Amino acid sequence: MAVRSREHGTTSIAVWKTSVYSCIHMVNGNVSTALKTDVLVIGGGNAALCAALSAREEGAEVLLLERAPKDFRGGNSRHTRNLRCMHDAPTEVLEDAYSEEEYFNDLLRVTGGRTDERLARMTIRASASCTGWMRGYGVLFQRPLGGTLHLGRTNAFFLGGGKALVNAYYRAAEQMGVRILYEARVTDLQVRDGRCGDVRVEIDGKEHSVDAAMVVVASGGFEANLEWLGEAWGPAAENFIVRGCPYNRGEVLRMLLREGAAEIGDPTQCHAVAIDARAPKFDGGIVTRLDCVSLGIVVNRDGERFYDEGEDFWPKRYAIWGRLVARQPEQIAYSIIDSKMIGRFMPSVFPPVQADTIEELAVALDLPVLALQRTVSDFNRATVAAEFDHTVLDGCHTRGLTPEKTHWAQPLDTPPFSAYPLRPGITFTYLGVKVDQAARVLMADGTPSANLFAAGEVMAGNILGEGYVAGIGMTIGTVFGRIAGREAGRQVAGRAPAVASMDKEGHHAA
Ligand SMILES: Cc1cc2nc3c(=O)[nH]c(=O)nc-3n(C[C@H](O)[C@H](O)[C@H](O)COP(=O)(O)OP(=O)(O)OC[C@H]3O[C@@H](n4cnc5c(N)ncnc54)[C@H](O)[C@@H]3O)c2cc1C
Repeated sequence: MAVRSREHGTTSIAVWKTSVYSCIHMVNGNVSTALKTDVLVIGGGNAALCAALSAREEGAEVLLLERAPKDFRGGNSRHTRNLRCMHDAPTEVLEDAYSEEEYFNDLLRVTGGRTDERLARMTIRASASCTGWMRGYGVLFQRPLGGTLHLGRTNAFFLGGGKALVNAYYRAAEQMGVRILYEARVTDLQVRDGRCGDVRVEIDGKEHSVDAAMVVVASGGFEANLEWLGEAWGPAAENFIVRGCPYNRGEVLRMLLREGAAEIGDPTQCHAVAIDARAPKFDGGIVTRLDCVSLGIVVNRDGERFYDEGEDFWPKRYAIWGRLVARQPEQIAYSIIDSKMIGRFMPSVFPPVQADTIEELAVALDLPVLALQRTVSDFNRATVAAEFDHTVLDGCHTRGLTPEKTHWAQPLDTPPFSAYPLRPGITFTYLGVKVDQAARVLMADGTPSANLFAAGEVMAGNILGEGYVAGIGMTIGTVFGRIAGREAGRQVAGRAPAVASMDKEGHHAA
């Protein structure tokens, strides 16, 4: 593994380790330690680690606070598989080319224009240099396998997934002398005149204050906070399943907004997919996703269809199905296929409910038998015979049905029939804080904070007003994490910001 060592690294680490716990004082009657550092990074996922490594590259002392225990470190980033990268020519892990224009147009389409073009284009250009930088810290890549939503041209896949990625970064961070504290929950921070001070962290039931020159917030969204989701979605939120870690409760985001940071995004906007309803409430990860929706029909609790399952290719539609299921009674739906479709999609980790007749299937799913039988027979009658090909937008559609199924409409006529229960699986939220090109948090009056930066989900709403293109979550975290860490580190060292000297490819002239 090629870990970058900087001249600053080895000599200062010993001094740094003894100085990090610098003084003892009383907080709320508990004996408490004041922690001191140049750059404080809040969070322990991809954006936080990129920031910590980049700040350390600049020679700064870095303290990283991860709320999770060590075994569960890495936030939602440990569930990921890839990041989306612009590239002008084929690389070892990416096919053909993916230009800035094409990337931006993909983003523009899914967000319906709700994106900050300047930040989005900067992110896209900077994505070109991500894989090289990541390799430098031991991240390995692999060619995409089947069932990966046809992303081989646009997305670079991590060998070993996000877990291997965060492990590589933690290893590198430790070797470079980044101080890491686990089960360290930031409980409060204050911002006065645009400057962040008095950060409080709870470790082992004791509260500590942190004296940091610079603060990078990379603590994720609020997707694991069902009460907060409930404010936006009402009681339906109780039935959401959180695909990622239980630690992203938006605590630090709330603090920033309370302290006058400018808010961006809409609390109801998020990435949510339809996942297997049998998934655990938290941390089910990628294996609970269901990719057979476009190959059959989807019915609600009343046995009725409610949306065109074949509207477009699954990679372009999977991210709308979480919201669609969320709007159904009791937030439950069922994807039903027949045996012709088995083997054509990546299955869920849970086996399907199977039956030889639609009647038996309805009984097994506790759905109204007559309603389901009518839905299936209406659907079968409406299908128009054509050549089925799920790799193209084929001509298999329905006629005279509401809602229509516009592609891949095949009669459900070959038992056994299989069904998977579906629930909305929330991936991450988009409400966040506004930032500028240097990843500085903007205050409500539009001025950038003097020492507060944000990266990752906590600011993803600057680029994702709505919708999603697969792999951009990790791109945003990597690009803004690197910028935040670098700018914070440079500021500590009294160096000029690098962001002004960023070249066309998004490389910093460091
Ligand atoms: C199942 C799944 C699959 C995904 N697949 C992909 C993919 O392939 N590609 C892609 O681009 N995106 C993917 N995503 C989205 C991706 O995970 C996020 O966009 C990305 O990980 C965000 O990184 P982050 O560092 O901002 O947040 P996270 O990685 O979630 O890190 C947030 C960190 O903050 C910590 N934290 C929270 N509160 C506190 C506190 N009060 N004090 C201290 N620490 C705190 C958490 O413990 C955590 O370590 C996926 C998400 C899920 C759930």
